[in-house]
Amino acid sequence: MQPKYKRVLLKLSGESLAGDAGHGIDFDTVLKICRPIKTCSLMGVQIAIVVGGGNFWRGRSSGKMDRTRADHMGMLATAINALGVADALEQLGVAVRVQTAIAMQEIAEPYIRNRAVRHLEKNRIVVLGCGTGNPFFSTDTAAALRAAEIDADIILKATMVDGIYDSDPKKNPDAKKFETLTYMDVLNKDLKVMDSTAASLCRDNHIPICVFDIADPNNIEKAICGQPIGTIVKEDEVL
Ligand code: UDP
Repeated sequence: MQPKYKRVLLKLSGESLAGDAGHGIDFDTVLKICRPIKTCSLMGVQIAIVVGGGNFWRGRSSGKMDRTRADHMGMLATAINALGVADALEQLGVAVRVQTAIAMQEIAEPYIRNRAVRHLEKNRIVVLGCGTGNPFFSTDTAAALRAAEIDADIILKATMVDGIYDSDPKKNPDAKKFETLTYMDVLNKDLKVMDSTAASLCRDNHIPICVFDIADPNNIEKAICGQPIGTIVKEDEVL
């Protein structure tokens, strides 16, 4: 397999790192996900990873808490995941740097766009924690933002379903899977694949998104090699 893309932004949800327990970090699962990432890095693909935090904490589900503070906790959760992913990659012998959008200098580099790009050019994987650094945003929006900043060719959004469906395939056996969709479809059809801020940012900056199932981590390699897996969200049709 030959890579189709030179530089990719991989978005890993917190849930994808949790394994069967459904919460926290299952390090064997993280290692499984990191092996194909290593393979792609060895093929020369430049990879930045934005990690979610839903396996520990989601600001919007925090009930009575002040939302800003709850989101700060969510961003710290993503930092924990970023360190877990970095550790797995390092154990596999991959050069990796962690950068966080909220400064924690004893633990990680601060996110500096040019520095992140320099790491990528040196074939180091950059793991990005703390989302955008701002409350009221999601790590999907962080993925869209960082992809635009670093000029990524595509966002690979690893999820727990094998693409985007017209209804929840876990609840509706007749749910229909889309091979491709436009950004407007995602925005208008309320498909719940990502929030509208993230989808609009991708649309405005012409960044395609491949939504695929991480249950088989080899899908990462397939997606990077342009094999038809999951659902591709791309440019609106020009009429
Ligand atoms: N978060 C935030 N700003 C950001 C990104 C994340 O405040 O730019 C917080 C927010 O509380 C969110 C949590 O971090 O619920 C974890 O991120 P997310 O829900 O996107 O993780 P995922 O669902 O991908 O695991």
